Parts: sequence; structure tokens; C-alpha cells
Amino acid sequence: MSHSAAPQTAIPIRFTDLTQSGLKDDQLFNARNADAYLQGMLRCVDLVRRKVSSVERPFTGILPEEMQSRFASVDLDQRLGNLDAVLGEVERLYLDDAVYFHHPHYVAHLNCPITLPSILAEAITAPINTAVETWDQSAGGTFIEQRLIDWTVQRIGLGPEGDGVFTSGGTQSNLMALLIARDHYCAGIAGHAGNKTHGLPAESGRLRILASQASHFSLQKSAALLGLGHNAIIPVACDNNYRMDSQALEREIERCRREALIPIAVVATAGTTDFGSIDPLEDVAALCRQHALWMHVDAAYGGGLLASTRRRHWLAGIESADSVSVDYHKSFFQPVSCSAFLVRDRCMLGHVTYHADYLNPASQASEGTPDLVNKSLQTTRRFDALKLWMTLRLMGADELGALFDHVIDLAHDAHRALQDDSEIEVAVAPQLSTLVFRYHPEAPVPDDVLDATNAYIRKALSRTGEAIVAATRLEGRQYLKFTLLNPETSVADLQMIAERIKHHGAAYLTRHAMTTPAHPRATRALS
Ligand SMILES: *Cc1c(COP(=O)(O)O)cnc(C)c1O
Repeated sequence: MSHSAAPQTAIPIRFTDLTQSGLKDDQLFNARNADAYLQGMLRCVDLVRRKVSSVERPFTGILPEEMQSRFASVDLDQRLGNLDAVLGEVERLYLDDAVYFHHPHYVAHLNCPITLPSILAEAITAPINTAVETWDQSAGGTFIEQRLIDWTVQRIGLGPEGDGVFTSGGTQSNLMALLIARDHYCAGIAGHAGNKTHGLPAESGRLRILASQASHFSLQKSAALLGLGHNAIIPVACDNNYRMDSQALEREIERCRREALIPIAVVATAGTTDFGSIDPLEDVAALCRQHALWMHVDAAYGGGLLASTRRRHWLAGIESADSVSVDYHKSFFQPVSCSAFLVRDRCMLGHVTYHADYLNPASQASEGTPDLVNKSLQTTRRFDALKLWMTLRLMGADELGALFDHVIDLAHDAHRALQDDSEIEVAVAPQLSTLVFRYHPEAPVPDDVLDATNAYIRKALSRTGEAIVAATRLEGRQYLKFTLLNPETSVADLQMIAERIKHHGAAYLTRHAMTTPAHPRATRALS
């Protein structure tokens, strides 16, 4: 762990109070306020600089009930008036107790430290405030996004008709995938004029989508939104590494057919959220071809391999997909939100097109005006592409891919280090950059006590702010999870966190043994 000494003093900036910068109460960004803008930005940037330099823990451990009272006294109808007071309040209400993803001991969710060029891009995106949905609001912004879509399509290998659009995240990308798969299927039903105009056909209650048991919950949510219901997602069994079992997939497809259900799509996950497991994409592709099913690849997490020079082949088969989700805000080290949905056949994006006279009339499309809203579920949309653009132009794709490779190596090194630890039980060898494990002392402890112990450990780590780890359940039992996306995290950091896990676990069992004699085996575990 290396934490640089904190420069605590603010750099001296001459700051004109915004309320005195021109017109009375003039707080709008424009040419007249360009100086106030610069001074204000420097103040904010310097605040973040000082904060980040002094952060010693990923979190202070504050509880919601402890924080709530601070907000009770804020009167939003009374302005503070000057920037010093406002920044002071932001520091107190937000920054002092923020969760800092750049800290090496933040190892919980798929939040990444972010590249410097991507942050610089945000400094440009926010004030210009481009809304990227139509050419007439964005001009070059449209082409920057489109070039990145084309770049991603090419890296995946979707072919010359490929296209896509930036989205708010993997959830929206998966929703688009299932929507298009549904509407594409229904467009082929004889006598049905199409879902877009006529709503769902009578058969819709029998439509089914197959995805592994380890797939992301956004599929269920999407199915509900799409009028198909959670039950339309058929969970397919996994192998011991939490990869979809392709024989089980074939059996489920056949079972659907026998039961007069209509399988329309298979979602293969390239990097499951818990295990980083990559479904056998080539086998899934072959089955999709054979049974004429839409193949969606949810590469929200594993998409980072597209930039890897060492492990791109782990995604072999992704080029057969009909559609793909990629989250740049996970394994491409971009700020939230930055994500994309890609398709093999650009015509399929027509399922979400609506021509509004005031915004994107059909005449504009036939003139060849590139209005991205024609491909998107959103209307007003942030220009999130500039972040990835500046990252690629300054850092380059290879360096970006090397960051992801580094954390995959870290997960494997950490696994080697922890698997010899007699009190840490690793669930499965890591595949991308997660490690699922639990505290499990050598002496026997009843399952329910072990579950409670591991749940306690996570809370105890968070409360002290030593480390933020995630939790998940595996075959009904409580586990802990490291999600590693920070190249600054070392094996030594993780071993240190493992020591703290064992400390909190043992402490809990000691207390538990004293308070619940109903578990004699737990008591024995401590002797
Ligand atoms: C994170 C994740 C999602 C959801 O993406 P968001 O960007 O959080 O909406 C979907 N699928 C997988 C496999 C994920 O890991």
C-alpha cells in the first residue's frame, strides 16, 4: 500500500465570488462568466485533489442513521450564496464520507479507478453540455460516438453491417437486446403487424429466453418490462466453473419445444458478475445457428478483453453474436456512465426508431442526417463517448487492455496466496478478476453460524473502513467476494484484508459462543 503524504493546503486561487462576477445573481455559464467558471473549476478540482491525496481508507464506515441528521438541518429554500460555503457543505455532506473507488482496499463491486484522460474529458463534456441524440445538437459529438461504436464493432468482429449506440449501462443494453430479439421474432409472425405498432401478439406468453444461472438480474428486469415476465428467462445450468453448460442449454431448448414454448434468444455471459466466468461462446453460437435463436452476449464485465493483447482469445465466438453489451465503465476504466449496445445487423436498431416531427423527422433520416436518437431508447443523452475517445487517443487501447490484464493476474496471484490459508475457503478459481470465498475456521461451525459470521465480517470491515468487500450467496450459503479492478491493489493488500477477515470472523464466533449456547459445535470450534 502506498498512500502519498497529503498536501493539505489549498493552492492559492484568486476567486471572484460568483454572485459578484457580473450581473447580480448571474450564475449561468457563458462568455461573460468564463473567468468565474475557470476560478470555480480550479476550486472544485483543488478540493478533489486535496481530498483524494488525504484519503486513507476507502470509506469512513458511517451508517445511514448517523448521516441522516446532517441532512435534516439543510434548508434548500435558503441559499448559502458563496462558493466557499457551498463547497464546505459538499465536503461535509458528501466528500468526507464518500466511498473512494480509487483506494486499493475498495474491492467490492465492478467499480473501477478511472483514467485521467477520461476525467479531463468530463471537464469538457459538462460545460459544453452536448446532447448527443441529434446531429443538430451535437455535430462532432455524433461522429466521435459513431467512430467508437465502429471501433468496438470491429474489435468484436461483428462485420460490415454492425452498428450500435452508447447506453447508460449494461442494464439498458441488455434491455435493448431482449427488446430487439423479441420484436425481431414477432415481426416474423404471420398476420402480426409488428410489436412496435400493434403491441404483443397472442403468442407472447410463450416466448422464452435462455441464460445461465449465473447471468445478470437485469435480464429478469428487462423481461418484466417487456411484458414477458421474469419467468420468461429460463435459467440454464452451469458447469463447476459457473460457465453455461451447453448440453444443458440444448436440453432446455428441446424441452421448450416439447412444451410448446417458443425460445427466441440465448444470452451468453462473457464475464459473470460474481465469478467472471465466460460462457462457451462458440458452442452457444452453434446452437443458436442450429435453432435459429438470437444470440446476445452480455460482455458488460468481460468486454475489457477486447482491448487485451494477451487474452482477447478468451472471447472467441463473440463475433458470432447478434448483439453485445459492453460496459466501458467497468473494464475500460471509464467514469459512470459509459457503455454501449452493439448489433451485427444495423437494421435491427430500427425496432427502437420513432420519427418525431420536432426532433428527428423521417425526412432527415432519408437525407442521411446521422441522428443517434434513431438507435436509442433515450432521448436527451449525455455525450459519454468523449471519455473513451480521449483515453484511447492519449493512452491507447493496448495500455487500457494491460490494466485489465493486470487485475486478472492479480486475481490469480491472490487465489494462489489464499488457497493455502486454512481458514479461507475459496469457492472457485478466478476467471476474470473476482474471487469468491468465505471465512471458514478449521474447527466445525454450523452452516447458519458460518453464514452469519461471514455476513458480519463484511459489515465489520465496512464499519471500520479498513476495506470494502462484497457479499454473495452460493448454493444458499453466505460468501464474500473481492472484485478486483484496481491495478494499485496488491496481493499484500489482499492478504492484509484476509487477516482482518479472519480477525473479525474469530471475534464474532467468540462472542457468538458466549451468547448462544444452543450451538455447542460453534463453542467447540473456539476451544
Ligand atoms: C454490471 C453488469 C450488468 C449491468 O450493467 P450496469 O452498467 O450496472 O447497468 C449487466 N451484466 C453484467 C454481467 C454485469 O456485470
